[in-house]
Amino acid sequence: MMLYLPTRIFLEEGALQKAAKYIAALGKKALIVCGQSSAYKSGVMADLLPVLQAADITHDIYPGIRENPDLQSILRGKAQFIASQCDFIIAIGGGSPIDAAKAISLAVANDLAEDQLYNSALHQKSLPLVAIPTTHGTGSEVTQYSVLTDTKSSKKAGFGSELIFPRVAIVDARYMMSLSPEVSLNTSIDALSHLLEGVYSIQRNEFLMPLIAKGIKLIIQNLSQCLEKPDYLPARAALAQASTLGGITIAHSSTTLQHALGYPFTTAFGIPHGLANGMFMEQIMNFYAPALQNELNQLFDLLGMSKDEFLSWLNGFPIQIKVELSEAQIEAWIPMILATRNTRISPVIPNAEQLRRILQSVQKQV
Ligand code: NAP
Ligand code: ZN
Repeated sequence: MMLYLPTRIFLEEGALQKAAKYIAALGKKALIVCGQSSAYKSGVMADLLPVLQAADITHDIYPGIRENPDLQSILRGKAQFIASQCDFIIAIGGGSPIDAAKAISLAVANDLAEDQLYNSALHQKSLPLVAIPTTHGTGSEVTQYSVLTDTKSSKKAGFGSELIFPRVAIVDARYMMSLSPEVSLNTSIDALSHLLEGVYSIQRNEFLMPLIAKGIKLIIQNLSQCLEKPDYLPARAALAQASTLGGITIAHSSTTLQHALGYPFTTAFGIPHGLANGMFMEQIMNFYAPALQNELNQLFDLLGMSKDEFLSWLNGFPIQIKVELSEAQIEAWIPMILATRNTRISPVIPNAEQLRRILQSVQKQV
């Protein structure tokens, strides 16, 4: 068993101020990588700029990272980082800006071109990175993964490099209060997926089981409340904690078939990442259950509920999405999903017919 997590994590109200001296040690000019408006709406920018000013750190801003960042946006970020002579990166946002910042770090440090971003042999160096999540889903602030979309091949895929673990993660639930109900639900389901995949993965780490159970309990106890009362900080804080625990989990166990299934639904149908995992969550648990009886019994003992009770709680949320998925798409996706690294980390690798049945379970009847 091995644990490795080189990120200094601040997980509390006022985390940014508490992390100030560690940010100050990272450089003199920061490139702030963010999405369309969340860096401002969340309140991060208003807190961050005085912290940078007090530390004599200047900055440039690379805004507009879109959901599911593409390779071209990484190269534009690389060019801006070099032109503005920055020396470290601060990522603000959901998983999309944080993942983009990780890839920009590798692109700059190793002078990578677009077709070299996924080539791990070329990932030799990186830049210091601070991650400030504004969603409670991906846990990207504590993982070594970056998930990008190649728009030429319409393929969404991640890569991992220990070099891109953020140096500092600032997790403050106040920055998540402005999330819409939809993003609140979808990102929480993503976090739940990461925690469950820590139980499923063949890289499962026994040491993490109490943390996984704690994260899942936090989601079960707080998700409905958060959706009903979006301004209730304790529920957000619980979900933020669960999300970081989910990130710590997949940093060790990786993601599995659950994520491999979700990616093409995001690229082909625009289904948000968390929801794309959620639409298969019950099917995947049932598919793995015969092979993972002991592991699931251990989990449900720790949760103090049965698998059926868990599934009935889960099905209380609107995650049972159906799409107009053609037979041709199913046949094209089967080999693609089976070839992913995530699928190989799964405890049971489905055969083509089993995978076909799982995919058909989300087909809209027309
Ligand atoms: P996201 O794609 O970063 O953002 C989704 C939406 O939420 C955007 O419209 C964003 O607006 C908005 N938003 C974010 N924070 C907000 C706030 N506080 N208030 C209001 N709106 C806010 O969402 P995500 O689910 O966090 O990230 C998904 C990506 O992460 C996917 O590409 C997924 O594959 C990846 N992922 C990575 C890992 C990893 O370990 N690296 C793990 C799981 C998933 P703006 O445009 O204004 O930002
Ligand atoms: Zn995910």
